[in-house]
Amino acid sequence: MQDSDSIPNAPDWIRINFPVHCSQCSESLTGRIEPSCPHCGLEFEWRHMLPIDALHCPKCAYNVFGLSERRCPECGDTFDWRKVLDVARAQTSRQFEQNWWGNPLPALLRTWRLAALQPRKLWSEFDFHDRPQLTPLCLLLLLQGFLFAKSWEWFGPLAEFIMNGFESQVRTRTRFIYQFRFSPEFMQCILIGWFATLVTLLLFIQTNRRFNLSWRKIFRAYVYSTAFASTLFSISLIAEMIADSTILFMPSVNRIPMSVYNGIQGTILLLAIPVTFAHLSIAYTKYLKVPHGWVTAALSIVLGTTVALSTTVALYLMKIAPLL
Ligand SMILES: [Zn+2]
Ligand SMILES: [Zn+2]
Repeated sequence: MQDSDSIPNAPDWIRINFPVHCSQCSESLTGRIEPSCPHCGLEFEWRHMLPIDALHCPKCAYNVFGLSERRCPECGDTFDWRKVLDVARAQTSRQFEQNWWGNPLPALLRTWRLAALQPRKLWSEFDFHDRPQLTPLCLLLLLQGFLFAKSWEWFGPLAEFIMNGFESQVRTRTRFIYQFRFSPEFMQCILIGWFATLVTLLLFIQTNRRFNLSWRKIFRAYVYSTAFASTLFSISLIAEMIADSTILFMPSVNRIPMSVYNGIQGTILLLAIPVTFAHLSIAYTKYLKVPHGWVTAALSIVLGTTVALSTTVALYLMKIAPLL
């Protein structure tokens, strides 16, 4: 056996009277000194896996570390060690998932920024051991859906206000209108693709079994990996404003052809595919520890897109069939 002093934060098993399992494969880790799982090879840090300083009674916050019974000596309440561990593991987190009830806005902005722009940093902050919290994850997903579908409605008037304000200063006698009329088929297609990708990830039963991926963890990986894609309509609105500003500042430009707007929108919206692929790959390799996670990511995106396109074509054909 290895000397426990040589491993930082190696647990004092004599004082740990509850079962400790690997977060990936559920193998018992009780009595182990090495910070790794002998069954699945998962490597971790003991201070994350077993945050003994943060084991508190859920009711009165009394420090329950070292107790042999599941009853708090302070308030007399019985507690569940798993819950105590969940709370302890999430305590130092600054993510929205763990702070959505107490301090939602700063946590939301921070989590979203990391998910959209620095996914590697996001996943390095997430501990493999903490349980994904479904309510805040669903809230995030809903918020992303609304941001995606409603960006033009929400931010269009703001864009008009800014651009027409500029215009009145420069006097070019142009009036900028930011309206985007989505065809229902287009939105439907994107929505189907979005959800088909999640369903595909959940249906990769072999991979999920092999790497012991619970559906909660897959759901978490998916929600954060689509954060950037949900901002694409807002980004295309900003890109159009930039294009329009050429009319204000370059007197030789009189008007911008419609094809330029369509090109800008199309290119930016298509970015959803490579960006979501890259973010899912990072989530699968860094968080879910699936080697060659990019293969799973690529397959799910290809299948999701195929389902979306074929459903849309089928619906369209059904719609025009009576007219033919
Ligand atoms: Zn394991
Ligand atoms: Zn208590």
